[in-house]
Amino acid sequence: MTPLIELRGIRKRYGGGSTGRPEVEVLHGIDLSIQAGEFVAIVGQSGSGKSTLMNLLGCLDRASDGSYHFNGRDVAALDADALAWLRREAFGFVFQGYHLIATDSAQENVEMPAIYAGSARPARAARAQALLGRLGLADKRHLRPNQLSGGQQQRVSIARALMNGGRIILADEPTGALDSQSGAEVMALLHELADAGHAIVLITHDRKIAAQARRVIEIRDGCIVSDSEPSPCTAPTQAALPPPDMDEAMQKSGSQPLADLREALRSAWRSMRIHRARTALTLLGIVIGVASVIVMLAVGMGARQEVVARMGAMGATVMYINNRKPPQGGPTGVTTLADLEAVEQLPEVAHAMPVARDPATVRYGNVAWQGDTIAATSAWPAIHNWPVAQGRFFTDAEDAELAPVVVIGKKVHERFFEGRKALGELLLIGTTPFQVVGVMSEKGAGDGGQSQDDLVVVPYRSGILRIFPNGKSFDPHYTVIRARDSQSVLPAQAAIENLLRLRHGREDFYVANAAARLQAAAQAKDSMTTMLSLIAAVSLLVGGIGGMNVMLMAVKERTREIGIRMATGARQWDIQRQFMTEAVLVTMVGGTVGVFLGVLIGAVLVFLGGAVVLSVSAMLLAFGCAVVTGLVFGWMPARQAARLEPVVALGG
Ligand code: ADP
Ligand code: MG
Repeated sequence: MTPLIELRGIRKRYGGGSTGRPEVEVLHGIDLSIQAGEFVAIVGQSGSGKSTLMNLLGCLDRASDGSYHFNGRDVAALDADALAWLRREAFGFVFQGYHLIATDSAQENVEMPAIYAGSARPARAARAQALLGRLGLADKRHLRPNQLSGGQQQRVSIARALMNGGRIILADEPTGALDSQSGAEVMALLHELADAGHAIVLITHDRKIAAQARRVIEIRDGCIVSDSEPSPCTAPTQAALPPPDMDEAMQKSGSQPLADLREALRSAWRSMRIHRARTALTLLGIVIGVASVIVMLAVGMGARQEVVARMGAMGATVMYINNRKPPQGGPTGVTTLADLEAVEQLPEVAHAMPVARDPATVRYGNVAWQGDTIAATSAWPAIHNWPVAQGRFFTDAEDAELAPVVVIGKKVHERFFEGRKALGELLLIGTTPFQVVGVMSEKGAGDGGQSQDDLVVVPYRSGILRIFPNGKSFDPHYTVIRARDSQSVLPAQAAIENLLRLRHGREDFYVANAAARLQAAAQAKDSMTTMLSLIAAVSLLVGGIGGMNVMLMAVKERTREIGIRMATGARQWDIQRQFMTEAVLVTMVGGTVGVFLGVLIGAVLVFLGGAVVLSVSAMLLAFGCAVVTGLVFGWMPARQAARLEPVVALGG
């Protein structure tokens, strides 16, 4: 008959290798067979290697040498998950220090192995309650370990050991921390379990306790020195529980993704609540990061939209020809009407409009106003994308006839007529009366911020001859060009420059491109947005790194809990997922609060009149970034936790 457990030449060494500590051998070649249903005591002095042996038996640790066959199967060949399966389905651990999870209730502690085994919630709750009832703790199931006495805690840990069946109970000094009364109760329980067919390995330094077992093995300095029944060939009881089917381990994953996630969320939420201050600080980093990403993007988009709006209003196809002194020296150039005629012939140019512009005194009745008077052509509304609101614009014919007509801006209309009818009235500009034929629509603030509606426009020739006293030259002060479309702005500019260079023979002019200037402004605002967003993203990153730091601390702090979970059968992935869930939950809560804060700040800015555009996509982006940050920065600490050796974690 295959023994349940068979050890051959098991050695365990600590230190040596890369640890930098001298190598010590603690177990020196242990041979041991245990059959299903046996009640074995391993007795020895403190430091003789009992716990080391038990950790090996329970697959919490691996031997340095020798072989371990469980039910005929070589344990050395099993991977971490298969070992977790063995711990979960075959073994039940009872420790001297109970090793209960302090933040969970008695019932939750008992249920834990069943969670990792994937049993459904009602089934495992019922079983945990039944077990606790059997151990006399029915009324204590909602209490936490620190609300229970030592004996009660040990009974909870026995219930936990039995949760998944506990075919083999490994008890390391289970009575070591108990008073004699509680100790006796625990021993009675072990006897009961032995009678029910559980194999029991009881580890103790107390010979009297050991004597209660059916077989006593004595260990001294890492060697077995006596065995009351060295080769148990006959199974002690007929009722012995059969070992679990190892092949099952490879098939059954033992996990139910949804239920597992709920468990992970529940315990993540609990650990967040327990470490409130720490969680709040981590959250703060994420909240600030997310909120600043949202606000920065909103401000950036607002600025951008403002520029785009202004570009539309100004017309993205408008250029100006100005006169200047050539860089090589010489007098200021003169761009003549003949030049303009040639410019207008260029295929890329739609309109070329001469403009003379000077301050002049405008009077109506007894109101006088010293303001900009512009002399231009009938192309004005088309070039500036600026329709007439009342009346009409003057015509080419009126320009040719030197007709004394004027079109006024909205502000001027308000100033002189205060909303009354202006059409047909006469304005005195300089010394000449001009008849109002039209009122421009409202244009609003210009590129420099000043209102563009405070002007009067008169026909070019009338203006030159009747208003501006500059020697009656018909040369324009500057010229406004409209390109055919936004694609031809730059070709038009190049063509004009070529043409005028040929005609003037010098660079005594320059072409200013309003569209290009606005585009540059838009680009500057874009790069500002990018920079602000980068700063915001960095703050999110810093928040994430802070979160990682906190997580790493949490892993350190909760090493023992991780060990307990592993001893009760948690796989590496279970541990990894638990910590990842915590990280993601923190960042999701932080992200949500951050989105609200960002929207709030944005709303306040809008209320204060800022150009801010809040967008759902920015919120999703910031929230998504936060969650990704949580995943990325949670991964490392979670992996560190999952990679812990169970025995190391338990000892920590
Ligand atoms: P027992 O449980 O019988 O009191 P242990 O198995 O805990 O004894 O320890 C046996 C010996 O192994 C002791 O001398 C102890 O110092 C040593 N030992 C146990 N664990 C480690 C370890 N992780 N590193 C180094 N030495 C260890
Ligand atoms: Mg010990």
